Amino acid sequence: MKLHEYRSKQIFARYDIPIPRGRVAMTAGEARAIAEELGGRAVIKAQVLVGGRGKAGGIRLAQSPEEAEELATQVLGMHIKGLPVRKVLVDQAADIQTEIYLGLTNDRATGSPVLIASAEGGIDIEEVARVRPEKIARVWVDPLLGLRTYQARNLAAGMELPRAHWGQFTDIARALYRVYKQTDASLAEINPLVILGGGSMLALDGKIVLDDNALFRHPELAELRDLDEEAASEREARKYGLSYVKLDGDVGCMVNGAGLAMATMDVIQHLGGRPANFLDVGGGAPAEKVAAALEIILSDSNVRVVLLNIFGGITRCDEVARGILMAMEEVKPQVPMVARLVGTNEEEGRRLLAEAKMITATSLLEGAERAVAAAKGEAIEHPG
Ligand code: GDP
Ligand code: MN
Repeated sequence: MKLHEYRSKQIFARYDIPIPRGRVAMTAGEARAIAEELGGRAVIKAQVLVGGRGKAGGIRLAQSPEEAEELATQVLGMHIKGLPVRKVLVDQAADIQTEIYLGLTNDRATGSPVLIASAEGGIDIEEVARVRPEKIARVWVDPLLGLRTYQARNLAAGMELPRAHWGQFTDIARALYRVYKQTDASLAEINPLVILGGGSMLALDGKIVLDDNALFRHPELAELRDLDEEAASEREARKYGLSYVKLDGDVGCMVNGAGLAMATMDVIQHLGGRPANFLDVGGGAPAEKVAAALEIILSDSNVRVVLLNIFGGITRCDEVARGILMAMEEVKPQVPMVARLVGTNEEEGRRLLAEAKMITATSLLEGAERAVAAAKGEAIEHPG
């Protein structure tokens, strides 16, 4: 679950990370009033859950309350990467001298948090990693020991931060680690962390991504979920306990097991197709869940074919097939359906599905080939 910039910065402030004075406005009039409170000069910042707002024109600098109102009108009328801007953060404008990147995430390779910093802040860290990888410094944190002061200092040295700032940098890095740990975040990022003309540091932007699987431990954070900002399909999926992530492609995927779902997407991609989603229906795949999943996949108008990849294992494939058929009765898909079904009683399962005009396959490769062909509008022969 991604938190808005203003929510992320409110959390930072609770951990003594310095942030600019400012508040959220829903209307241009409010933005003007806030700019007045702040003394006139203010930045108007679109609150949408995507990065690169600056480049998209969603971050504007106003010299007066009147201009704040005018710019807020513009920004509140924008869509950024398809998302409507419903709120703006009005922050006191900062006198920026240097922009730094500081972020914490999990490094899967070492199984530990990694603190990443770069003197090339403000821009996409992915871009820095690609073009100037030597400009990125990292330290790995032992979760039992936490981030030690010397590690934060090593990082400051690694990014060639002038010594005068090491003290404050170390405090902010350690506070960010506490935010990351105590909120069960998978990402806590300040980009940019700025050094002001007077020499002090300020977190100008903030991004926290919380681990959904740990939200039950943080009811007060779970409440911050911004339902307006989520794809309706992802909200529906959560209701049924399905893990669904909408993507840009046209091959809908329904798979049992997250690992198998990812492998399925890889194979589709490898064959030149593009998955429309990640979806894990979980074990057993009861008819009701399959129906909900099918409905969610088909609510995406880009979907031109659905590939079901069900590994029966202990679950009997004929039961799974009956579940799929019941779901299809209910949802009545208008696009080709390809099913790869393996496990106990798989022949019977495939027979039932083939009778219902579904395209069946025994291997993932075969199923994915058929699905990709169907998405490209190529004729596919019905086997048997
Ligand atoms: P993002 O583009 O979505 O990451 O939004 P940011 O909050 O990081 O803002 C993008 C850029 O706008 C920053 O890197 C700064 O260069 C600039 N910016 C943001 N706030 C201020 C401010 O208060 N004063 C000035 N001069 N520039 C700002
Ligand atoms: Mn930023």
